[in-house]
Amino acid sequence: MPISFLPRFAVLATSLLEWHSVPENMSTIPEIEQVVQRIHQKYQNFDEGDVATYIPELAKADPGHFGICLATVDGHLFCAGDWEHEFTIQSICKPFAFQLALEEFGRDDTLQRVGVEPSGDAFNSIELDPKTMRPFNPMINAGAIAISSLIKKNPPESGVRAFVDKMQMAAGRTLRIDPDVLASETTTGNRNRAIAYLMLNCGIIDGEVDHTLHQYFSQCSLLVNCQDLAMMAATLANMGSNPVTGEQVFDFQYIKDVLTVMFTCGLYDHAGEWAYRVGLPAKSGVGGGILAIVNRQLGIAVYSPKLDAQGNSVRGILACKELASHLGLHAFEFTNVGSNFMQAMM
Ligand code: GLN
Repeated sequence: MPISFLPRFAVLATSLLEWHSVPENMSTIPEIEQVVQRIHQKYQNFDEGDVATYIPELAKADPGHFGICLATVDGHLFCAGDWEHEFTIQSICKPFAFQLALEEFGRDDTLQRVGVEPSGDAFNSIELDPKTMRPFNPMINAGAIAISSLIKKNPPESGVRAFVDKMQMAAGRTLRIDPDVLASETTTGNRNRAIAYLMLNCGIIDGEVDHTLHQYFSQCSLLVNCQDLAMMAATLANMGSNPVTGEQVFDFQYIKDVLTVMFTCGLYDHAGEWAYRVGLPAKSGVGGGILAIVNRQLGIAVYSPKLDAQGNSVRGILACKELASHLGLHAFEFTNVGSNFMQAMM
C-alpha cells in the first residue's frame, strides 16, 4: 500500500515560519526519509543508458553520480546521494522560461509564438505545426527557442540576468552559468541554429537569431543541484512562493498553464508513458536532471546523467516512478488529495 502522503505529512509538519535558509534548517520525517534513501540504494548500481555527448562538455559528467531530493511546500527537505553535485539544468529551464514569457506578455501574445500540443517527437526535431507554423509546445527545443526570443532583452546579458535572478529566487540561493557548457553549446548547436532559422523564415522569431540563441543556450547552461531543482519545483507547487524564503517568485495565475504543458509534453516522446506511470507534471534535461511537481504538496528532483534514447535520465525515471508509487503521488491516485486545500488541512 502506498503511504498516504499528505495527511500523514500534514500531521507531522512543522511551521514554515521557523525556516529561513535551506541547509541549516533541514528537518526530516523518518518514514519519507527512509523511502528516499531506499530508492536511492535500490538504483545506486543500476547502470543503463549513456551520458549525453552531442554537447561535448556534457560528456565529462561522472556517470556514477546519482542524487535525489524532495522539498515540501512547508520547507522540509529529504535528500540522498549526490544531491549537492552541480550539473547544468538544460531543458528543465524551459517551463520556467515559459512562465516568464506568460508573466511578461500574457497568454494571447505568448501563444501566438508557441502551441500547447504534445508533438510525440524528439526534443530536437526540426518541425513546426503545419497548420499554424508555430512550434508544437514550449518544452521542445523549437518552442523554447521561440520563448527565448520573446524574453531576451537588450543588452543581451540583461535578459540572461533576468532569467538567472528568477531562478535564484526559486532555488533560494545564488546560481551561476557554466561558461564551458555555454561555449560548448554555442559552438556545436547547429541543429538549434537550424530550428531558429526555420522559425525566422516562418515569422515566429525576429531577426536577432544569435541573440535569441545566446539567451537559450545560457538558460540551458545554468548550474543547479538536486536541492535547487527540488526547491524550484516546490515553489511551483506552492503557488509560486518559495517555501523557505516566503518570497513570491512566480505569478500564480500562470502556474496552471506551465504545469499542464509539463504534464502533457515534459518528457517529449516519453510523455504519455510518464503520465500513465508517474502521473506528475515534470521536465527532464540532457544534463541528467528530472524535476517533478506534486501540486500544493512537494517538488521532486533527481540527477543521474545516463540517459535513455529519448534523452531522459534512466535512473531519474526509475526513481520518480518508485517515489510516486510508494508515496501515492500520481495525480489520479486515490491517496493523493491534490490541490483540495480544505481536505489537505483536515
Ligand atoms: N541545450 C540542450 C539542447 O538544446 C537542451 C536539450 C535537453 O535538455 N533535452 O539540445
